[in-house]
Amino acid sequence: MPHPAPSARSEVKERAVSQLLLGCIADDFTGGTDLASMLVRGGMRTLQVIGVPEGPIPPDIDAVVVALKSRTQPKDQAVQESLAALEWLRAAGCRQFFFKYCSTFDSTPEGNIGPVADALMDALGIDFALACPAFPENKRTLYQGHLFVGDMLLSDSGMRHHPLTPMTDANLVRVLGQQSKREVGLVPYSVVAQGAAAIREAFDAARRAGKGYVIVDAIDNANLNVIGQAAADHMLITGGSGVAIGLPENFARAGLLQSSHNAAELPPVCGYSAVLSGSCSVATNDQIEHWQRSRPSFQLDPLLLAEGRDQVGEALAWARERIAGGPVLIYGSARPDQVKAAQERLGVEAAGRLVEDALSRIAVGLDELGVRQFVVAGGETSGAVVKALGVEALRIGASIDPGVPWTLGVRQVPVALALKSGNFGSLDFFEKALGQVQ
Ligand code: ADP
Repeated sequence: MPHPAPSARSEVKERAVSQLLLGCIADDFTGGTDLASMLVRGGMRTLQVIGVPEGPIPPDIDAVVVALKSRTQPKDQAVQESLAALEWLRAAGCRQFFFKYCSTFDSTPEGNIGPVADALMDALGIDFALACPAFPENKRTLYQGHLFVGDMLLSDSGMRHHPLTPMTDANLVRVLGQQSKREVGLVPYSVVAQGAAAIREAFDAARRAGKGYVIVDAIDNANLNVIGQAAADHMLITGGSGVAIGLPENFARAGLLQSSHNAAELPPVCGYSAVLSGSCSVATNDQIEHWQRSRPSFQLDPLLLAEGRDQVGEALAWARERIAGGPVLIYGSARPDQVKAAQERLGVEAAGRLVEDALSRIAVGLDELGVRQFVVAGGETSGAVVKALGVEALRIGASIDPGVPWTLGVRQVPVALALKSGNFGSLDFFEKALGQVQ
């Protein structure tokens, strides 16, 4: 186990009362939740904070994930914000650090994975770290340093057409080497298959050979577990959420993680329930239709909002009459032809903003009516609603469906939140989520 890093900001240290073990920096919000869910699964009580926090951390937390938007920010800004997050996590007393990026290594030839990892290593005063984005449960595997998505090389997958971070080279030794000032080596599958001791030896050999990073092959969870074990005393680990799978066990072995608590257990939150949806994905539209077969719903229309109609007031009046009788759904979501029509009239951004703004104001109104359990569909929509509700941090609970946990929104009056990005969740996701919390 690495020793706690020296404090950079003593006033933060005074406020931090928890025995934090792992401090994570995630390069986007939903990636942060993904990592947090993995740690909760391993028995770590985990808090996700949105940006570098101001306030203190609750005392009963083992791991903190600072969620940034550094994946697609300009490189210098990504580095600066990541360093600020690291400084805060060090000051809070974390023993080990994790830089979380996407399992498809989303980045450009300039970064931001390499430059951010370089800066974190410099700040921590270390010269070696592993890099492993593999996430076999999601069909991302690494062999001979090459990243596969299902049975395809990353560079043959849909990722080659990504609008912001097109991935046209699957050889991560080369990709990271281009982004970083350090040399990159490989710990191949033949070594990983031999277990933690062999991996540790390979780490030492690579370091002696002047490598700053090694890409580590992994094709299943057993590989990720031994990689995690081999990295128990690394100050910094970089990778996808998959490689975090072995870390809770390291802390447990060192006697630092209590096994008596259920890390996924959240305090109960009493109040009414509602579903808010701004996602127009196929899955969400189907989930809405499923809901409508037996439950009430209210649709927002960006064209009416643009005309100045008070749909927020109408939706809240509608909800006020029904909320005591059971959960309601309020949505801006629409099928592609309807979305296209609104976008052509209003512009893509303006149409989106109108719906996000309306749903945010409706969330505040519902909060005032006593709603304390919100299911929110849509990545951007979730961000807007979380902000409007004044939530600064999320305590991560049990997963409803893969990648979507119930969370506790931390603020003066806590609120339960299930934040679902577009295509996630089963057909009955809304009903299932609310059935689990009630
Ligand atoms: P997803 O996770 O499915 O991508 P997001 O919430 O991230 O969902 O993005 C959906 C965007 O579409 C939001 O900006 C939302 O406000 C916008 N939107 C929702 N309903 C409509 C609509 N009827 N017409 C146009 N845009 C819409």
